[in-house]
Amino acid sequence: MNFQIARFGSRLFGTGLDKIRNIGIIAHIDAGKTTTTERMLYYSGSISKLGDVDQGDTVTDYLETERNRGITIQSAAVTIPWNKYKINLIDTPGHSDFTFEVIRSLRVLDGVVTILDAVAGVEAQTEKVWKQAKDMNIPSIVYINKMDRDGANFNMTVRQIVSKLATRVVLCNIPYFVNDLKTQSHRFVGVVDIFEGTLLKYHENDDGNDVQVIPLNELSEFKDSEQVNQDVMKLREAAIETLGEFDDRIVDSYLETEDYMKVPTYILHEALAKATISQDVVPIFCGSSFKNIGVQPLMDGVSLYLPNPGEAQKPSVYSPVASVPVKIDPKSGCLINNNKNLCVAFAFKVITHPTRGLLTFVRVYSGILKSNSKVINTQTGDKFNIGKLMVMHGDKPHDVDQLGVGNIGVISINVENKRISTGDTLVCHTLKKSADGLHKNEKRLKLLPIEVPPPMFSVSLQPMTAGDRRGLDQSLNTLLMEDPSLHVHVDEDSGQTILSGMGELHLDIATTRLRDDLGARMEIGKVMINYKETILKPTTPVAKSIEDSAFKKGHFEITLSLDSFQGKPEDTGLIRKDSEGAVLLNDNNLVIFEQDCEPDFILERVKRVSRGDQDWDLPMTMENIQNTILSSIAASLQVGGPVAGLSMHSMIVRVHKWEIPQDFDKISSLVTLIRQAISTSIGQLSEKQTTLMEPIMDVAVHVGDSDLGTVSQDLSTARAAQVHSIDDELDSTSSEKLYWAKDLAENIPLPQDPADLASGRHSSPISGRKVVKAITPLREMMGYLPKLKSLTRGHGSYDMVYSGMQRVSPERLKVILDE
Ligand code: GDP
Ligand code: MG
Repeated sequence: MNFQIARFGSRLFGTGLDKIRNIGIIAHIDAGKTTTTERMLYYSGSISKLGDVDQGDTVTDYLETERNRGITIQSAAVTIPWNKYKINLIDTPGHSDFTFEVIRSLRVLDGVVTILDAVAGVEAQTEKVWKQAKDMNIPSIVYINKMDRDGANFNMTVRQIVSKLATRVVLCNIPYFVNDLKTQSHRFVGVVDIFEGTLLKYHENDDGNDVQVIPLNELSEFKDSEQVNQDVMKLREAAIETLGEFDDRIVDSYLETEDYMKVPTYILHEALAKATISQDVVPIFCGSSFKNIGVQPLMDGVSLYLPNPGEAQKPSVYSPVASVPVKIDPKSGCLINNNKNLCVAFAFKVITHPTRGLLTFVRVYSGILKSNSKVINTQTGDKFNIGKLMVMHGDKPHDVDQLGVGNIGVISINVENKRISTGDTLVCHTLKKSADGLHKNEKRLKLLPIEVPPPMFSVSLQPMTAGDRRGLDQSLNTLLMEDPSLHVHVDEDSGQTILSGMGELHLDIATTRLRDDLGARMEIGKVMINYKETILKPTTPVAKSIEDSAFKKGHFEITLSLDSFQGKPEDTGLIRKDSEGAVLLNDNNLVIFEQDCEPDFILERVKRVSRGDQDWDLPMTMENIQNTILSSIAASLQVGGPVAGLSMHSMIVRVHKWEIPQDFDKISSLVTLIRQAISTSIGQLSEKQTTLMEPIMDVAVHVGDSDLGTVSQDLSTARAAQVHSIDDELDSTSSEKLYWAKDLAENIPLPQDPADLASGRHSSPISGRKVVKAITPLREMMGYLPKLKSLTRGHGSYDMVYSGMQRVSPERLKVILDE
C-alpha cells in the first residue's frame, strides 16, 4: 500500500504558521544529506525520479562543481509538502571550510535533522556542527542512516549520541532485520515504530513508496516476533519514563492504567515535541536513504517534533538608532518593533540557478512580503522593486503574490545596479507596497547580523586575454553575492585580481566555480596565506592642504596621525560608549575623529540645524562626507604597507582636523589629500618600526592515548604551537557533563541488535581519545593533515578556527619574507 495513503490520506499544502517547518540537515560529509533530501522530495511527490549523488543527478547538488565532486557546497533550499505540512529544507555543506556557510544557514532555521552514518557513528565534524546548533538553541532530531551497510551498528551509534553529544534521547523507531540463512547474514528491511507498535516493512529493491504496515500482534508469522515485541515494550516504557517529566498527563494516564502500552500515543508525541523544542531530549530515527527505507517516518518526525516559526526562538534584531523590541506569538509569529505593518525579510542565500539566473532566498521574519513591493535593503540603503516573488515547489520556483510571516521564498530581481547579497535585510510597509511610512529605526534595522571571519588565503587571477577581463569581473560579482566570505581586490602594483577566502578548499572550489560554472577564462595562481602589515610606533601628525581653483571660499585640508594596537578594539579602551568619534573599519583598523575636527562652518550648521534654525542646505549630508573620509582612509590603508605592499591591520588613524571650502559641491580633493597624508605618515617610519601580521589559529587535535606524546611534541617543536590543554575527548566543557552522559550511555535501554550479537561485545562509546588544544600560526598548519595522519597511522584528526592576527617577531619576519 502507498505509505502516505496508508497513514495520512492525501497530501495537502498547509498554509498556517503551525504547518511550516524551516529546517536544515547537518551532518559529517558523506553521511547522506543529499541522498536523504532527494528521497524526501520524491516521497512528497515533488520529483518523479530518484536522483543519485553517485550518478550526479540530484536536485540539491545542482552545480557542476558539486555534482563532479559529489559533495554539497552551496546550501540550496527546497520546499517539501508533507501531510499538510510545508517543510522548507536547507541542505547545508559539510566541510569545515564552509563552517561559515553552515552557521549562516543555521540562523534561519527553526530546527535541524542531524544525519549520522550507522557505521561511523558520531564523527568529529558532527560534534562541531552539533555544538554550533546547540549554542544557537536550535532543536534537533537525529537520523541514523546507512543501516543497510555492513558494520552498521545502531546501538553503538545511539550510545555515542548520548555520550558524545551529551543529550537524552527517545528512540522513535528501531531497525528491523531479516536473517538470510544462506549467507548467514542479516538484511535491513524496515523499521519498528515504538509509539504505534507497528512494523513498517519495505519491499526490497523498490522505491520505498510501497510499505507494509504490520501491527505487532500480527507479527507471529515472523520468526523473531517475540523479541521485537519485547523491544517495543521496553523502549516504550523508557520513552514514557523520560517524557513523564515533561507532561503530567503521561504520569496521570500511567497511574490510571498501570500499563505502558496504554498511555495515549498523541500525548507522547506532544510531550516529545515539547521536550525536543526545549532541547532536553533528542528523538532518534533510523533508516537507509539509499535503499529507500525509513525516510517517511523521519519526515513525520520533522512535522511532529520540530518547532514551527511560532514556537521557534526570537531572531536577533539590531538597529543603529535605537533598540528594537521583538515578540513571538504562537499564532501570529514574530512581531518586530510592535509594528504590524512592518515587513522584515532576511536574505540568507543567493544562488545562480541554471535556468533562472540569480535567485535570492529570503525568510520573512515579520509581516507580509508582497510581489512588486518596493523594499529597502538596509545593508546598502538601496531602494528597489523586488518584482516577482516565488516559492519553491520541490526545487522549482512558482510565482506567488505574497509571502507570509515565517515563510521562505525566492526573489529574482533584475534591476540594474541593485543587488541583494547573502546576509542583507529587506524592509517594507506591508500595506503600502513600499517603505514609506516606516520609522527611521525600522529603515535601518538589521536581522541576525553575522560576523564574517576575515579571509585567510588568497589566490591571484589573471584574465587569459584583455578581452576576458569583463567576463571575469562579472563572474566574480556573482560569486561574491552568493558567498560573502569571499573577497576580491586588485593589487595596485601588479594589477592582478586577488580572490581571498576561508581555506584552501574554499578557494579551490571558488575558482573551479568561476571557470566551469560561470565561464571565466583566467590563469589561477598559487594559494597563499593572507599576511597583513602594521606599524610599531606612533607617527607625528601630518598636515596636507590644497587650494582647489574650482572653489572660491576656503580650501581642502587634512591633519592626521597613525598608531596601532594589539587585540580587539573593545579591549583597548579606545572605543568607549561616550567616544562617539571612533569607527571600526575592515582589517581591525580604527578611525578616531578628534573633538571638533570638523570645519567651523559645518559645526555651526550642525548646531543651527539641531536647534531648528536652519535647513541642511549643503550638497552632501554630514553622514555622506564622513563616509567619504572613512572610505578614503580604508582604501589608503589597503594600498599596502612598506614591508611587502600588503594592506595595513590593527591601525589607529586619528583625524585631528579636516577642512573643505564652504562652496564645495564635491570633495574629491580631500580624498587625494587623505591618501597622501597616510602615505607620508608611514614614510616617517624606519624598517624596524613596521612588521607583518599573521593569522593565528585555535587548533584542536584528536588523537588516541598512544599518539599523544608524538603529536604534542610535533606541535610545540615543529609548528611553533603553544599547547594549552590536553583533555579527554568527551570532556569538552565540564567533567560533570561527561559523567552523567557516560553513565546514561552505558545504561540506556536498547533493542537487541545483530551488530552487538555479531561482535559479542557491548561496544563502549568511551574511546580513550584525547584532544590537544593549542594556538599556532596558520603558516605552520599548512599541509598538517598528511603529517598528522602519518604520525598517528591514520587515526588522528584535527580542526581549527581563526583566532586573530598577531604581530610577527623579527626572526619569523625574515623567514616569511625569504619565502
Ligand atoms: P552528503 O555528503 O551528506 O550529502 O552525502 P551523500 O548523500 O552525498 O552520500 C554520500 C555517499 O553515501 C554516496 O555514495 C551515497 O550513495 C551513499 N549513501 C547515502 N545514503 C546511504 C545509505 O543509506 N546506505 C548506503 N549504503 N549508502 C548511502
Ligand atoms: Mg551532499
